[in-house]
Amino acid sequence: MKPFAYHRAQSLRDIPDGATIIAGGTNLLDLMKHEIATPNTLVDISHLDLNRIEPEADGLRIGALVRNSDLAADPVIRRDYPVLSRALLAGASGQLRNMATTGGNLMQRTRCPYFYDLRTQCNKRAPGTGCAAMGGVIRNHAIFGASPDCVATYPGDMAVALSALGAEVEIAGPDPRRVPVADFHLLPGNTPHVETRLRPGEIITAVILPAPVTGEQRYRKVRDRASFAFALVSVAAVITMVDGRITRAALACGGVAAKPWRDPECEAALVGREPSDALFEQAASLMLRSASSQEGNAFKIPLLRRTLIATLRDATGLEPAP
Ligand SMILES: Cc1cc2nc3c(=O)[nH]c(=O)nc-3n(C[C@H](O)[C@H](O)[C@H](O)COP(=O)(O)OP(=O)(O)OC[C@H]3O[C@@H](n4cnc5c(N)ncnc54)[C@H](O)[C@@H]3O)c2cc1C
Repeated sequence: MKPFAYHRAQSLRDIPDGATIIAGGTNLLDLMKHEIATPNTLVDISHLDLNRIEPEADGLRIGALVRNSDLAADPVIRRDYPVLSRALLAGASGQLRNMATTGGNLMQRTRCPYFYDLRTQCNKRAPGTGCAAMGGVIRNHAIFGASPDCVATYPGDMAVALSALGAEVEIAGPDPRRVPVADFHLLPGNTPHVETRLRPGEIITAVILPAPVTGEQRYRKVRDRASFAFALVSVAAVITMVDGRITRAALACGGVAAKPWRDPECEAALVGREPSDALFEQAASLMLRSASSQEGNAFKIPLLRRTLIATLRDATGLEPAP
């Protein structure tokens, strides 16, 4: 690890220009040990007053330093936003969730093995060097929104649930604003090193949840091991039904793109319809119409189809086909 200066921030204004923020450190310290991140100055924000969950309009304001374990266990989150609690509990391990923060979780970096291997080309780690994953070993890589410059995925679970819930990221800095979680992460294009809408000198201060939605919420994650593994694919679903028909559907998919993947046409196709296997097959086909894969990650296309259909059946109470 390269030497660095350490500063413990006393307030949001006490973050020097160009400094790298550390919150729980569960991702950043790994990146520093691998010398993928080599900050000159590390600013520890973990003592700032950003660790509360409080009412905000009809929803909730989750401070950027709220730990993943505290958020998952919060009684209001469990009651009104269970998809968020389930997504968090499907991530990492108990020890990691005790350290990991809401802001850090949103900002966690990809798990593409080439990003971690300094001997290989990676446009995300070293812009302009190329993408060793193209023509390399592809497995946990994107099936949506990839570019010739990058095929890496955003690996987190929490943001997938937040996207389906319509949450927003609160950003502090010279241009304070809120950005929908669904728009916060960026597709790679020809700038895969620019991963989010957060600009230099800005910090996430909170995530804002809208008023809870009536209906069913599910998070289904498929991974190599039953715990302590990132998603191969995941699906967050928030579904409202009235008189046997779907009146609102929000679906976000994880492990398949550089951002939680949503498809408005797929969601719209469900609205006004009665749940059925034919409908869910149609929705899955819509979702997957823009998917593309290479040999190593082709399995994700049928896997996402099955996971999406199973999640929809579960959320709408449709009995599995005999
Ligand atoms: C073995 C292992 C398994 C894991 N499995 C999963 C999993 O299955 N699912 C999953 O979702 N995650 C998983 N994770 C990732 C884990 O959830 C993240 O490491 C964690 O959420 C990051 O939060 P942190 O507070 O520790 O961030 P840090 O490591 O402190 O920071 C991460 C990044 O966020 C930036 N940052 C932190 N806070 C802010 C802020 N407020 N504003 C702006 N930038 C900020 C930092 O500068 C840094 O770039 C796993 C991690 C490990 C090590």
